[in-house]
Amino acid sequence: MTLPIYVQGAWYLGALLFIFGLKGMGSPASARKGIVIAGYGMLLAIAATFLIPGLQNLALMALALVVGGAVAWISGKKVKMTDMPQMVAIYNGMGGGAAAAIAAIEFAKGDAHSVVTTILAVVGALIGAVSFTGSCVAWAKLQGVLKKAHRLPAQNAVNVVLALVAIGLGAAMVAMAPAQPQLIFAFFAVALVLGLIVTLPIGGADMPVVISLFNAFTGLAVGFEGYVLGNPALIIAGIVVGAAGTLLTQLMAKAMNRPLTNILFTPMVASGPGEAISGTMKEVGPIDAAAMMRYASKVIIVPGYGMAVAHAQHKVWEMTALLEEAGVEVKFAIHPVAGRMPGHMNVLLAEAGVPYDKIFDLEEINGEFGQADVALIIGANDVVNPTARTDKSSPIYGMPILNADMAQNVIVIKRGKGTGYSGVENALFYTDNCRMLYGDAQPMAGEIIQQLKAMG
Ligand code: NDP
Repeated sequence: MTLPIYVQGAWYLGALLFIFGLKGMGSPASARKGIVIAGYGMLLAIAATFLIPGLQNLALMALALVVGGAVAWISGKKVKMTDMPQMVAIYNGMGGGAAAAIAAIEFAKGDAHSVVTTILAVVGALIGAVSFTGSCVAWAKLQGVLKKAHRLPAQNAVNVVLALVAIGLGAAMVAMAPAQPQLIFAFFAVALVLGLIVTLPIGGADMPVVISLFNAFTGLAVGFEGYVLGNPALIIAGIVVGAAGTLLTQLMAKAMNRPLTNILFTPMVASGPGEAISGTMKEVGPIDAAAMMRYASKVIIVPGYGMAVAHAQHKVWEMTALLEEAGVEVKFAIHPVAGRMPGHMNVLLAEAGVPYDKIFDLEEINGEFGQADVALIIGANDVVNPTARTDKSSPIYGMPILNADMAQNVIVIKRGKGTGYSGVENALFYTDNCRMLYGDAQPMAGEIIQQLKAMG
């Protein structure tokens, strides 16, 4: 069916707004505007869809919009900043699932499509279904519902066999188009199980890369299904998300020093008891911590997931301003996987008003820790764990870390002796130059601020 020009035009305009929106998201300063622009694009694309002549099931479409919109609105309003990664993972999975569902409907209708279109529908369905169940597992891991990585005996062989069976069934669907319902059902069942089985063993520091990989998968699946439906808005949005997700996956894998094949086929698991850690954890109080920083020349702050949990970013920035007033040079060091989503720390620091020229990536800042009088670690753990450099049996072995241990003094703010996301004990906390400031990051930063003010 040839669609009216106003529907096609609105879809193209919507797609253009997605591109401008994504461009805005390239910098924390314009990210909020970017999201709003992309949102208008989405609104336009949806509104135009309702204008397609002869459309059936309008009431069902409206009902889906109301239910979906209400769930998204309420959960979006309520979600805590620390739960955002789970939300992103589950929405991403929904996108993959929706693409797979579009394909399922097209197969079930049994309409005649060209061979190329059927192949694209099958490929989109496969990656969309894998992204759906894989993202659900990622959600469960981030939410703490699934606490452990579950690895099957001969995991890689199972992965390969399942992938081959799914591809084989997909090829049969292309060859026999229109496919029998049993074949369609078997194909989707295997694809969904494949997403589960591939993701269950992945854990430790690999999760961020997997989440961005599924993001890329969802984009591509949506793009392919957009081609099947002849919908340019879906094609362009899908390709944009797929390309951005692919680049992010590459960047994250590079930052983690882990080829993607290792992440999928050689998950990070402990392969031994781990190196023995010597020394003891030594405590420090807020007065001494404040004095160490107040009389330092250079302080590097390493924020992590605990700063997000404690919502301590505003206090941290207030503390930074006081130190700078006292003539101390302060810089922020951001690890690519600090927190629970890509860019997590940058977003929080930007929200608190920390200027971008004080925020440095791992490669930019790692050489400077040696000249720092104090490295202040706020709720970070895995990203500063020196075990990653030396202990081959550690699940985080090989992950580049921030060289906080090379600073003259290290102060760590955390609530107790809890491990980080990977569950690995941190050798840094036991070293001679490290002091632990136990407590929630926000009140602790508050106490340091009080002490700094008292010191004048
Ligand atoms: P970690 O998870 O390694 O450590 C966070 C530390 O913060 C804990 O040791 C905890 O110790 C402390 N903490 C928790 N709550 C508070 C609080 N209220 N106040 C003070 N401290 C607190 O965080 P990192 O940022 O160092 O590392 C991120 C980890 O998450 C990496 O392993 C990464 O791979 C993984 N990950 C990252 C994702 C991403 O995209 N960035 C996505 C998924 C996983 P205590 O309990 O003692 O307070």
